[in-house]
Amino acid sequence: MRLHEYQSKRIFAEYGVPIPQGDVARSLEEVRQIATRLGKPVVIKAQVLVGGRGKAGGILLARDPAEAEAMAERILGMDIKGLTVSKVLVDEAADIAQEIYLGVVIDRAACRPVMMASSEGGVDIEEVARLTPERIVKVAVDPFLGLREYQARDLAFGIGLDRAYLRDFVRIAQGLYAAFLGSDATLAEINPLVVTAEGELLALDGKMIIDDNALFRHPDLAELRDLAEEDPYEQEARLFGLSYVRLDGEIGCMVNGAGLAMATMDLTKLYGGAPANFLDIGGGAKAEKVAAALRIILSDKNVKAVLFNIFGGITRCDEVARGILAALEEVKPQVPMVARLVGTNEEEGRALLAGAKLFTAETLAEAAQKAVALAQGRM
Ligand code: GDP
Ligand code: MN
Repeated sequence: MRLHEYQSKRIFAEYGVPIPQGDVARSLEEVRQIATRLGKPVVIKAQVLVGGRGKAGGILLARDPAEAEAMAERILGMDIKGLTVSKVLVDEAADIAQEIYLGVVIDRAACRPVMMASSEGGVDIEEVARLTPERIVKVAVDPFLGLREYQARDLAFGIGLDRAYLRDFVRIAQGLYAAFLGSDATLAEINPLVVTAEGELLALDGKMIIDDNALFRHPDLAELRDLAEEDPYEQEARLFGLSYVRLDGEIGCMVNGAGLAMATMDLTKLYGGAPANFLDIGGGAKAEKVAAALRIILSDKNVKAVLFNIFGGITRCDEVARGILAALEEVKPQVPMVARLVGTNEEEGRALLAGAKLFTAETLAEAAQKAVALAQGRM
């Protein structure tokens, strides 16, 4: 679950990371109130869960409350990468002398959290990693020891930070790491961490991704979920207990079991196609759940063919077949479909589907090849 900038920064502040004064507003009235209360130049920032807001015109400076209102009027309601801006952060504007990048992520290869810093802050860190990887310095954190002071100092030296800011930097790095750990985050990032003209360090932007599987122990964080910002179909999937991730291919996949779903996606790739989604209907899925899954898959306009790959164990093939029939009845799909059902009650399952307009396959390889051919109009 991704958090908004204002939510991330509030969490950082709880861990002692200095952030600008400010508040969130949903109306021009609120913008004016906040700007008046701050009594200094402010920056108005669109709160949407995508990066690159600055370039899209979603970040504007204002000298006084009247100007703040005018700028907010331009930003509220604006569309940024398909998301409508419904709230803005009104922060005291910072006088920036230097922009730094500081972030923690889980590094699967290192099996540890890794903290990264770069002197190239404020810009897209992926670009820095691609073009000038030597400008990013990293330290791997031992989960039992936490981020040691010397490691934070190493980062500061590595990016050539003036020694005058060393103490503050170490405190911020340790605060950020504590926020990351304490929230069960998979990413916690300050970009930019700025040195102001007054010589203070300040987290100007914040981003956090919380591990969904840990939300059960953070009810306060779970409440921060912004439903308006989520893909409506991923939301519906969560409601039905389906694991669904939308991708950008053209073959909709409905599979039971995460491993089998991965294998199915791999095979569609192998035969020259690309999966439109990852979808695991789980064990013992009933007809209603299968119907919801198909509805969700077909809601994606890029889907040119659907591939059902069901291995009946606890899940019964006849139950899945009934779900497919119910879904076909309901959504009347226009795209071709291939079904491969094997395992528990496969005979009954196949018999049920016999009358439906479906291609069938015996093996996964055959099913994947058919789905790719159908998606590419070769069958
Ligand atoms: P992002 O584009 O979505 O990552 O949003 P950021 O919060 O990182 O802002 C992008 C850029 O806008 C920063 O790198 C700064 O250069 C600039 N910016 C943001 N806040 C301020 C501010 O208070 N004062 C000034 N002068 N620039 C700001
Ligand atoms: Mn940023």
